[in-house]
Amino acid sequence: MTDENRTDESRTDENRADENRADGNGTGGTGEEIVRYERRGAVAVVTMNRPEYRNAQNSVMTYALDAAFTRAVDDPEVKVIVLAGEGKHFSAGHDISSPGRDVDVSYDRKAVLWWDHTDREGGDRRFARESEVYLGMCRRWREIPKPMIASVQGACIAGGLMLAWVCDLIVASEDAFFADPVVRMGIPGVEYFAHPWVLGPAAAKEVLLTGQRFDAHRAKEWGMVSRVVPRDELQDTTTGLTDTIAEMPAFGLTLAKKAVNQAQDLMGMRSGMDSVFGLHHFAHAHNAETQEDPLAGQTATSMRDAGS
Ligand code: ZN
Repeated sequence: MTDENRTDESRTDENRADENRADGNGTGGTGEEIVRYERRGAVAVVTMNRPEYRNAQNSVMTYALDAAFTRAVDDPEVKVIVLAGEGKHFSAGHDISSPGRDVDVSYDRKAVLWWDHTDREGGDRRFARESEVYLGMCRRWREIPKPMIASVQGACIAGGLMLAWVCDLIVASEDAFFADPVVRMGIPGVEYFAHPWVLGPAAAKEVLLTGQRFDAHRAKEWGMVSRVVPRDELQDTTTGLTDTIAEMPAFGLTLAKKAVNQAQDLMGMRSGMDSVFGLHHFAHAHNAETQEDPLAGQTATSMRDAGS
């Protein structure tokens, strides 16, 4: 699809400008829409569309997601938002090695008031970028004042978990699998460190210390996932849930969501994440100091092979 016939109206001119800086055509190098936006009645469906890279999240995708969510928030007809991934997998995580990786590209900041990372060095550069596109964006999306449902199939790994966790409910197909294997990089978990609050402390430690995958049934046992269904029922089950939620009054939904989020923050989630973000960056810096690589030499392939 070319720029001329693209149908996604969620892209603002400003967002297009951001994407142009990324790769010159706003498609993340794929030639297709990187995030699709559809409205079905009171439900906005936002779909990551980079299936050839298992929906690995580069920054162009992050900002396209943000534009799509903003559109859903601004549309008074939308009461519920679904986040889905095109293809076999929901998301394999942050893009650490695809050809569309754009960590060195400048984007206008949306999530935090901070300087651009691209002309900085070392920890200054890394902290600026991750504060914006990882922790900041996830926190911004968690506060979206409409219920968000993640519809998850296949891989939901590391940065993929972050996206599922900012949603209020997760519907998973039986083939879904989850993991946060970044301890293999010497890093104590992904940037949006919700693990103890979403999984409970014991399960959080199991997930982090083993780095192993856990399936949808296990995730449901731990309270992370709301429904587990066969793959071919994923969309219908998600739709059934969104339709039920959409019958509730919109502002009631907003306040109920906010109430639970506030309770979670009173359980220490926000301040806990801030303190762990410091450990996370200490680990990146340690890797850079001792191995000249903040990811400890790991790539998407090595992480996938180790985690299977
Ligand atoms: Zn990081």
